[in-house]
Amino acid sequence: MLRPVTGEKLSFEKRTHGMKIGFIGLGNMGAPMAENLAKAGHHVTGFDMATVTVNGVSNARSAVDAASDADVVVTMLPNGDILKSVAAQVIPVMRKGAVLLDCSTVDVDSARRVATDAEAAGLLPLDAPVSGGIGGAAAGTLTFMVGGSEEAYRKALPLFEIMGQKSVHCGASGNGQAAKICNNMILGVTMIATCEAFALADKLGLDRQAMFDVVSTSSGYSWSMNAYCPAPGIGPQSPADNGYKPGFAADLMLKDLRLSQQAAEASDADTPLGQAATELYRQFVEDEDGTGRDFSAMLPRFEKRGRS
Ligand code: NAD
Repeated sequence: MLRPVTGEKLSFEKRTHGMKIGFIGLGNMGAPMAENLAKAGHHVTGFDMATVTVNGVSNARSAVDAASDADVVVTMLPNGDILKSVAAQVIPVMRKGAVLLDCSTVDVDSARRVATDAEAAGLLPLDAPVSGGIGGAAAGTLTFMVGGSEEAYRKALPLFEIMGQKSVHCGASGNGQAAKICNNMILGVTMIATCEAFALADKLGLDRQAMFDVVSTSSGYSWSMNAYCPAPGIGPQSPADNGYKPGFAADLMLKDLRLSQQAAEASDADTPLGQAATELYRQFVEDEDGTGRDFSAMLPRFEKRGRS
C-alpha cells in the first residue's frame, strides 16, 4: 500500500526535529544517508567498524555508544548475520519506545528475528530496505520498503522523507525485505531477458536503436529496457554509457537473488526464473569478469557467447 506522505510532512518534522539518531554502518549507502539526516537538523551519532568521517555526524566509540539514548537507531549493514550481532549489542541499551530502523538488505528470517527480540525489549522495529543505490542515498531520493507496526512506521516517516522520496508500508515485520527481494528478483530476470534479446537481435542483424524503439514502446518494455538500457548509446544515460561502472553492481544483484532463493526455499515457492537468474549472475560474478561491474554488463557477456 502506498502511503501519501506529503500531508503529514510538516507536523511530523516539527515534532521530530532534532531527534537523537544513532547510525550504525557508514559505508557507501550509510554515510550519505547519515549526512542527509544531520543536514536536516537531527543529532546524528555514527559508528562503523572502519574509521569513517561523515559531515555533521559525530563519531561514537561503539555501536552501544551510538545507540544508548537514541530516539532512533538506523542500521545499514552488509548482511543478516552482522545485523543480528549488532542488534544483540544495541537492543539491551536502547530506550523503551525507541525505533530500531534497519535499512540493510538482509534475509527475511533475520529481519523477523531481530524484530521479535526488539519488540520483546519494548522497542519499535522496522525493516526498511531501499532501492535507489548510492546516487539515491546521496541525493535523498531512495525508496523505502517498510515492514513493521503502523506506530513504528509513523515515527520513522520524517526520516524516510529526508533520506528518500517515497516509502511504502508493506505490512508486518519482514515484509519490507520480502518486497525488496521480490522486486530485485524481477529486476535480475528482466535484465537478463533484455540483454539476451539484444544479443539475439545483434545476431539477426537488427539495429539496436530500432530494437529499443520497438521494445520500449511495446509489450516487451521494462525498467531494464526503458530506464536503464544495457546497450551503450541507446536510451537514457545508464551505466552502459560509462563502461558499465556501477550503478548497481552485479555482486549486489547476486546477493539479492540469493536472498530471493533462500526465501523461496524456506517458503516452498517455485521460482524457476529466479533460480536461473541466480545461477547466471553467480557464473558472471564468480567465474567470469562480472565482479565490480554493473549488473547490466550481462549484455557484453551474452554478446560474446554462442549457444553452447
Ligand atoms: P558497504 O560495505 O559500503 O557498507 C557497510 C558498512 O558496514 C561498512 O562501512 C562496514 O565497515 C560496516 N560494518 C560492517 N560490520 C559492522 C559492524 N559490526 N558494526 C559497524 N559497522 C559495520 O555496503 P553498502 O553498499 O553501504 O550497503 C549496505 C547495505 O545496503 C547492504 O545490505 C546492501 O545490500 C544494501 N544496498 C546497497 C545498495 C548499493 O547500491 N550499494 C543499494 C541498495 C541496498
